[in-house]
Amino acid sequence: MLLRLRKDLSANDLELFLALARELGYQCRFLDASRQIAELAGPERIQDRSRLEDCCAVVSILDPGAARERALRGPKQADTQIEVGGARFGGGSVSLIGGPCAVEEYTRLLEIARAVKASGATCLRGGAFKPRTSPYSYQGTRRAGLEMLAKVREETGLAIVTECLDPRDAEAIAEVADMIQIGARNMDNAALLTEVGRTKKPVLLKRGFMSTLRELLLAAEYVLDAGNEQVILCERGIRSFDSSTRNVLDLGAVAALKRSTHLPVVVDPSHAAGRRDLVRDLARASLAVGADGLLIEVHSAPAEALSDGAQAVSPEEFAQIAQDAAGLCALFGRQLAGGLAARAANPQPVSKDVQRTKRARGAP
Ligand code: PEP
Ligand code: MN
Repeated sequence: MLLRLRKDLSANDLELFLALARELGYQCRFLDASRQIAELAGPERIQDRSRLEDCCAVVSILDPGAARERALRGPKQADTQIEVGGARFGGGSVSLIGGPCAVEEYTRLLEIARAVKASGATCLRGGAFKPRTSPYSYQGTRRAGLEMLAKVREETGLAIVTECLDPRDAEAIAEVADMIQIGARNMDNAALLTEVGRTKKPVLLKRGFMSTLRELLLAAEYVLDAGNEQVILCERGIRSFDSSTRNVLDLGAVAALKRSTHLPVVVDPSHAAGRRDLVRDLARASLAVGADGLLIEVHSAPAEALSDGAQAVSPEEFAQIAQDAAGLCALFGRQLAGGLAARAANPQPVSKDVQRTKRARGAP
């Protein structure tokens, strides 16, 4: 393993580095006179990499070698494609996940599920366990919600995406979920990541609202390291200074992740925007920048929603987003899983829509 060390290291910092290398079982030799490039020969355990990266003397690891992280894209490595029921994410396939923020009651859930399916969604989202910023806000229908999700899957055939907040619930959730969501507030909860990794169900890992891409990829590493290769990353907006939107959708992150990792990357424009009027525009932008799927909050009566009603689109608006997705997938030569929306697709409406949007904004 090759490491770049800080320039002009103090004797003390250098000794700390050498002591750490010895403790981990490595022999160190310097490859340059200024002692900035160190070669470590030793066991190459993946966990040693982060211990060394944390050492104040180390700038970066230049040659991860055998300790290469599993989420990183190797030279010429193709996209990993992950199948979840009828959905396919990555490797040129795009899938739509739609549904309410929270599982509230059965008939409403079924109504929303049927509507998103009719538009071409292949997965139904819905939180039975809700991560809320305030402990006094609605916390979800919990186990009863899981039962409702299971019934709706039977009824519609949609794959179920639902969140796990607590390692103690992982097993029960894995029985119902086709994909387990790890929410932004739990992205770096290592115990939870390891536990959902053990379930072997695909994991939808949302980026924390204060997390770097490096931290997101290392969080994914916990799931991969538990023996679960099926991780889908989700950009859902990061916190910034402007309150016009709930978060700031980091589209650059999507493009950057598509280069640095082979894992699929989906976008959740709903939590990024926090307001339904922006969701469709952000959904289009997400697909244009290379997202492998969309996670959209949909509600048939948003005013009555028990959480995140302001950002939930109606089933009709979801149908338009699905139509856009079909058009954009056709344009970019990608496959939209689910067939229905793809069949109904005609690239024309997208450009007509763009013209309409331009006119609405006062453009000629
Ligand atoms: C959600 O998907 O409903 C949710 C709580 O998302 P996030 O973890 O991104 O806030
Ligand atoms: Mn929500």
